[in-house]
Amino acid sequence: MAKRWHKCISSIAAHGTPGNCPSCKSEDTDYVYVICSEHNSFLHMWCNACGRGEQVCGRGKPPEGWKTMTGDEYAAWKYEGGSR
Ligand SMILES: [Zn+2]
Repeated sequence: MAKRWHKCISSIAAHGTPGNCPSCKSEDTDYVYVICSEHNSFLHMWCNACGRGEQVCGRGKPPEGWKTMTGDEYAAWKYEGGSR
């Protein structure tokens, strides 16, 4: 099921947003590219409407212009209930 979020990656690249949620079709979606270290990064996409989301393994640096966080920032943000 989670594979459906993969089409959102190209949407981010093209439009700066994941686009419609694969589960509920809401446009209330967002993403962040988390850079934990030079060789450890992932892309987190989620839907604010239904709470579903997906993490996809990254490949080093994100494409230019993408929203990013460090691993520490991401942990703090999750702790504050930023997503899900
Ligand atoms: Zn949704």
